[in-house]
Amino acid sequence: MRKYVVMGVQGSGKGTQSGLLSKAFDLVHISVGDIFRWHVQHHTKLGAQVRRIMAAGELVGDDLVEAVVGDRLRMHDWNYGFVIDGFPRNGRQAEFFLESYDIDGVIHLDLPDEEVRRRVLNRRLCTRCGMDYNLIADRPEVEGRCDVCGGDLVTRADDTPEALAARLREYRSKTRPVLDIFRRKEYVVNVDARPDPDTVQREIRKQLGLTSG
Ligand SMILES: [Zn+2]
Repeated sequence: MRKYVVMGVQGSGKGTQSGLLSKAFDLVHISVGDIFRWHVQHHTKLGAQVRRIMAAGELVGDDLVEAVVGDRLRMHDWNYGFVIDGFPRNGRQAEFFLESYDIDGVIHLDLPDEEVRRRVLNRRLCTRCGMDYNLIADRPEVEGRCDVCGGDLVTRADDTPEALAARLREYRSKTRPVLDIFRRKEYVVNVDARPDPDTVQREIRKQLGLTSG
């Protein structure tokens, strides 16, 4: 059984790296972003709540994230373990998470601010289902159209250099205590997130001592 946490600023490739790792080792990928997107796409009660929060330009609160992740983890549908990204979001959640699960490693995807800016400012968002695209690494098949639902792709209203700078500050101040808690337990491996996804993945496996796929 292997249980990993993937942490990194937006644009660092958390989803991609978690996906590659979970596929190779038969782990269940628990992505907070994907869970919320699923609810928005399927018009659930939670989806409506998330849509309202995002429409107001706000971030989904830590408590709502905690409730959703708790529900997901209680399904216990993993045989070989899981990779979770987007959680924990604060120190309290990190402490609780460590008490409840034997974590094998925390992968910290490290990306300098100027690279975050380059990636995030090239990001596009589907107006209908909320799917994210990146014009550098993850282009839609048809320009300006969502691959999933055919909706229009737009720049997020809050993807301006100023708003991004504010989010980066918030991310660093919130994430630092989480990483500090994990570091005290010597769980954290630091991986340079600048290279291409395959190179980053190789480095993750090397640092975690994972050999076969
Ligand atoms: Zn869409």
